[in-house]
Amino acid sequence: MKRVVIIGGGIAGMAIANALAEKKAAEITVITNSPTYFAGPSRPLLLTGEQSYSRIIRGYEEAGKRGIKVVFGHVTGIDPENRRVRLSEVQYSDSRAGELGYDYLVVAPGVVFDGSAIEGYERYWHRNATVYDPGRVNVLKRRIWGMASGRVVVYAPKAPYRCAPAPTETALLIHTVLKHRGVRDKVEIVHIDANDKTQPPVIADVVARIYQEAGIQLVTNQELAEIGDGYVVTKSGERYNFDVLAALEPNRAPKFVEEAGLGKTWVDVRSPQDLRHPKFDDVLAAGDAAGLPFPKNQEIAFESALFAANKILEMEGLQGASVQYAFVGWAYVGNLQGRLETNAVLFGLDFTAQPPKPTKDPEPKREYTQRKDSWEQAYLERLFGYGAV
Ligand SMILES: Cc1cc2nc3c(=O)[nH]c(=O)nc-3n(C[C@H](O)[C@H](O)[C@H](O)COP(=O)(O)OP(=O)(O)OC[C@H]3O[C@@H](n4cnc5c(N)ncnc54)[C@H](O)[C@@H]3O)c2cc1C
Repeated sequence: MKRVVIIGGGIAGMAIANALAEKKAAEITVITNSPTYFAGPSRPLLLTGEQSYSRIIRGYEEAGKRGIKVVFGHVTGIDPENRRVRLSEVQYSDSRAGELGYDYLVVAPGVVFDGSAIEGYERYWHRNATVYDPGRVNVLKRRIWGMASGRVVVYAPKAPYRCAPAPTETALLIHTVLKHRGVRDKVEIVHIDANDKTQPPVIADVVARIYQEAGIQLVTNQELAEIGDGYVVTKSGERYNFDVLAALEPNRAPKFVEEAGLGKTWVDVRSPQDLRHPKFDDVLAAGDAAGLPFPKNQEIAFESALFAANKILEMEGLQGASVQYAFVGWAYVGNLQGRLETNAVLFGLDFTAQPPKPTKDPEPKREYTQRKDSWEQAYLERLFGYGAV
């Protein structure tokens, strides 16, 4: 049996592992750096208390029963010429060597949030917290629920970054909490965006309308250059004081990708359908780390994973499942009246049409928040083998 090593036990990594396990076509090893996985999409609802950690956390034990070997360790390097992956701090596994060999390697480690290009970040990173990290979202929650007056600054870096609407979701959920607490009129919310409109562009008009109703100030085309003790400065020199900062750092693939010569910001791939590296037939990428011309979200991560699994099956003379690039998503827009009952708007893009076909329902609905929850839970059940506990 061929040895397939997958770096990253997230949406893409587990989708590939499951697709290959179903075919019993290979010896599958997933290397991932934590014994638990936290789903991303509903993390913003931790801010309002509408989501709980216990419903979005999963372990890998049930996947193990499906014949997927999981190694908990931190990948530090890839040697694609000699087909080796280096890893450190290996826990609970029989892989003591700190190195694994492979016949096929799939690189799916997601993204790194990298503030190093922002002046002052190294010193004042602790002034910042976002919904993006499962722990830091709790820091942001504490700050929002504790503040009585002042200014909140939310920041979105240049696209592509993970989950296009999450910064606007952050701003609108912060509005909801402050309104709920009766202090909204004493707190200014400013959203600074490095792009010419909020992301994704398909619902930028809807967000602009809701921001106006919520009294959220939007500043576009401004990249963050500096973080200080209670202020940020944009590249064009505008300074904004803040009491609470929720700034998403620019995203990239982990450094071992660049060090292995596999790509600079993202892993290079031949095409969205052929996710092999241009230089190596046996190295593929999937998920947010792959250099794809699409938004970085869970549906695209899953679809790219199926394309990657299909390519491995094809090289082994087997047939995979049929798959296309298209997604439907739900962006939280909070609750303008301050009830802790978040509404969402629906949007989507179908990349099988040329140009890609957008869809949206601009009317915020509670039902869409519930649909997003069912969708997220279905993914977790499918990939990790069990539902919410
Ligand atoms: C706040 C938030 C909101 C989101 N909202 C939505 C949404 O509404 N809709 C939507 O479709 N998507 C949303 N997403 C995006 C979605 O979660 C991601 O696109 C998806 O998880 C990408 O899958 P992935 O497998 O590439 O990365 P991940 O799921 O992040 O998995 C990567 C895995 O690799 C592991 N790893 C990383 N580095 C190493 C290493 N060096 N060694 C070993 N293991 C490593 C990580 O621990 C992780 O388990 C959201 C994400 C966040 C954070």
